[in-house]
Amino acid sequence: MLNQINNENFPVIRCIGIGKTYSKTTDAVKNVTLTVNHGEILVLLGPSGCGKTTLLRLIAGFEEPSNGTLSVGGQLVSMPGKFVKPENRKVGMVFQDYALFPHLNVEKNIEFGLDKSNKSTERVEKIISLVGLENLLKRMPNELSGGEQQRTALARALVPNPTVMLFDEPLSNLDAALRIKIREEIKEIVKQAEATTIFVTHDKEEAMFLGDRIAIMNNGKIEQIDTPEYIYNQPLTKFVAEFMDPASFIDVTITDPHTLHTEIGVIKVKEAIITDKQNLQILIRGNNIDLSQEKGSCIVESIEFKGSHYSYLIKLPSGKIIEYISQENILEVSDSVSLSIKKNIPIHIYQDEKYMMSTKIELK
Ligand code: ATP
Repeated sequence: MLNQINNENFPVIRCIGIGKTYSKTTDAVKNVTLTVNHGEILVLLGPSGCGKTTLLRLIAGFEEPSNGTLSVGGQLVSMPGKFVKPENRKVGMVFQDYALFPHLNVEKNIEFGLDKSNKSTERVEKIISLVGLENLLKRMPNELSGGEQQRTALARALVPNPTVMLFDEPLSNLDAALRIKIREEIKEIVKQAEATTIFVTHDKEEAMFLGDRIAIMNNGKIEQIDTPEYIYNQPLTKFVAEFMDPASFIDVTITDPHTLHTEIGVIKVKEAIITDKQNLQILIRGNNIDLSQEKGSCIVESIEFKGSHYSYLIKLPSGKIIEYISQENILEVSDSVSLSIKKNIPIHIYQDEKYMMSTKIELK
């Protein structure tokens, strides 16, 4: 509705080799290349200090890149010798602290984003109804809840009809229940507005809910961009695997192309694994293993109740610790148990903890 571009797969944001160096020792963003398509929500996810906010600020135009080129909405906005100011980029930004004007009421805050020649009452009304603030227009920001302030900030950013919406951890000041409610609202609103969106967070659950795709950042670089399912189930690196959830890499040796030996059992796989590579591992998550309480060579090291399940840390004969999860409280610390790899899961094979290939267990 709000944007003129109708082509579903039209790339609206394009970063090519973008970098930002603050000082000799701080390369905040290193050689990032990514594309975000029209109407897509891309989430930038990663630990504190990995460069998420800097990348967002480069796209918004609040920072000038040290290298690379950047286009927004088909317009080249940044390249060596050219820099388009933030106000000329058709980008709406929502910040962590909402950044509302304290002396303006909700209505005035929302209208603030429009330039005087373009005060369309119809558009303001449409956005106000989209974010559900009709009954609060005369309230001052200090008379609003956190969620209402966030919706005001969102409306203010949407009113000028931006091609791109950028969110910098907008939910981190809200309590857990409100975070969930507002993230649902944000998704609905930006999807309805067909705004191409980048959303920064360090909350993986938020990222999986909101993102059509997620870009995992580490140390200024993008480690993987993929759908939430691929990021979780088929992480390309150890860093991505462990960032998304506890993950273990168990050493494997291959005796013939269909047989993998691990310290928790031998598995036969469908696809032949033909490699002369060494240092092979398989990725194991807590729900990928079966446990038998008959005495075995693995020892329960610790038990933690996580609400929806129990997390057991179990020591393998090699000393490696892996997580096993269960809904039942069935084990005690120091119990000896035996583990095996579940039969119905895909097997992801890594070399030196980088993704190599996937296969399935041969059930016959
Ligand atoms: P967080 O989740 O904690 O907000 P982030 O992933 O958004 O972190 P950035 O804020 O982009 O990370 O920072 C990336 C790196 O750049 C950090 O090492 C940070 O200290 C550094 N940095 C950010 N802004 C500046 C600046 N203006 N001057 C110097 N260094 C900076």
